[in-house]
Amino acid sequence: MKHRKRRSKIKSSVELHPSETKQLVEYMDELQISRDINKNKGFLVSCLHKAQNLYGHISKEVQELIAEKLLLNLSDISALVSFYYFFSEEPLGTNAIYICNDIADRMNGVEEIDKIFEEELKIKFNEITPDNKFSLHHTPCIGMCDQAPSALINSTVITDLTPQKAREILKKLKTSKLKNLVKEYGDGNNAHSLVKSMVNNNIRKKGEVIFSEYITGKALKTALNITPSNVIDFIKKSELRGRGGAGFPAGVKWELTRDSSDEKKRIICNADEGEPGTFKDRVVLTEYPDLLFEGMTIAGYAIHADTGILYLREEYEYLLGFLEEVLDKRRKANLLGDSICPGQNIENFKFDIRIQMGAGAYICGEESALISSCEGLRGVPKKRPPFPVQKGYFQHPTSVNNIETYCCAGRIVEHGPEWFLKIGTEKSRGTKLLSISGDCEKPGVYEFPYGTTVKEILKKVKAEDTYAVQVGGPSGNLINKTEFYRKVCFEDLPTGGAFTIFNKTRNILGIVTSFMEFFKEESCGKCTPCRVGIKNLLDILNKIIEHNGNKNDLNQLLKIADTVKKTAFCGLGQAAPNPILCSLKNFRSEYEKYLK
Ligand code: SF4
Repeated sequence: MKHRKRRSKIKSSVELHPSETKQLVEYMDELQISRDINKNKGFLVSCLHKAQNLYGHISKEVQELIAEKLLLNLSDISALVSFYYFFSEEPLGTNAIYICNDIADRMNGVEEIDKIFEEELKIKFNEITPDNKFSLHHTPCIGMCDQAPSALINSTVITDLTPQKAREILKKLKTSKLKNLVKEYGDGNNAHSLVKSMVNNNIRKKGEVIFSEYITGKALKTALNITPSNVIDFIKKSELRGRGGAGFPAGVKWELTRDSSDEKKRIICNADEGEPGTFKDRVVLTEYPDLLFEGMTIAGYAIHADTGILYLREEYEYLLGFLEEVLDKRRKANLLGDSICPGQNIENFKFDIRIQMGAGAYICGEESALISSCEGLRGVPKKRPPFPVQKGYFQHPTSVNNIETYCCAGRIVEHGPEWFLKIGTEKSRGTKLLSISGDCEKPGVYEFPYGTTVKEILKKVKAEDTYAVQVGGPSGNLINKTEFYRKVCFEDLPTGGAFTIFNKTRNILGIVTSFMEFFKEESCGKCTPCRVGIKNLLDILNKIIEHNGNKNDLNQLLKIADTVKKTAFCGLGQAAPNPILCSLKNFRSEYEKYLK
């Protein structure tokens, strides 16, 4: 397992303060703790978050306290603390510095930044300073590839790091508090009083669906004037497919959830974009949260759910207070809660949304692992069938969709399915948000109609001398020049949103290694093909890079990759060999350069 290894050199030296224990107890007292252990498990990740934020770690004593309060076993708690990356049983520095070492950061010189942090703090990665003020860590993609290198200090985001900026930050932190660190804010709602972040939205191209004019409540009022079945018909007619990558028809998913016999239905929004190179959800959450919540509410109405959960990745915790305020405003405006749009609500529909924080685990982007996480379990994928639409969150029928899908659903109800059918291609209706980073002049978020070619996109983002493009992140396709005529759409080049550009100066095998290391770190370890297979692939890859490989090793790579693909339990393992398979197919000469 990835997570604990990284902190092995950090030694315990911080004692709990009694008043802080009091704060945690008070927090838990406010929760509606019951004799229903399952329900209490639903509070678990939030309690652990609270503890981690209060103490900088979750000691055994604190785990025992939480176990006692929530009527759970200590082993339930320890299992979570050891699984999620941002939970730690051992103390971290008061300022826990997580430097993103994703491919975009490496391309922008993060190694130099790493060295500066090590030199200035006089510690190595996974160590803590003697005064407990700083600890240093690496983390995979934090969703800032368009402004890399980036870092998280506790939950404050630092972007566009340069050697000089890194030194200034440390200087400030040595004499001042973390909250005084950010003085200049990014564009749009990044400057909102509840966000106050240096992050920039970088919306470079607006399209007709997501980034278009939005009137709060309009789509919901339209939905509530027709029956839930009519809403599902709208979504089915529009041919909306889930935007996460697999492209399952959203209307069919909603219908299956609604038709499950259990009365209690749930909807969940997957806001855990963790694929390296993806950051468009960050921008939608910052600038269009109402559109998302509207889409979720409409889905709740369509499937007869009274509760929705937004599963927000830990890396976007800086948006939490702002999003909670948007939800509150919607309650006050009767767009959420027990009295939604009185007078226009033909079904007397009640619905509310709560935000569930993730805690740093890429696997939680997988639907059933995400449900496990919401249930207060380790984010491990579940066996199917039953599918979540039959038995999902705590065994209740559950529709899980991502942010873009809910936003599209809201627009479809507002404008009608025929409007949506006119955009995109025959099998991929509508638009796609792309997170574009790497070797181009204008990295950022773009909304293109499905069917746009790679060549057209490269021109728009001002990319020159492009050698390779990774479409869909490490689990997607790495294509070469001869394929730039291809179209971004489900039937050709599907993508959850990542689009990373590499020019001729980049080392393809270095890129592939970085992606494989990512998968190795993120594998949950449940099944052997994924756990062992990825490691074997990496070993051979390293052998080749060290000029010790031969042609047989290339065949061996193909053989192992094929086995992992066919036998891994979930989508993560099945997609993990893709960087090797794609690069061997499209950049074989890059491998041959290294062979003996
Ligand atoms: Fe876990 Fe990998 Fe198996 Fe998926 S394929 S269950 S991530 S070990």
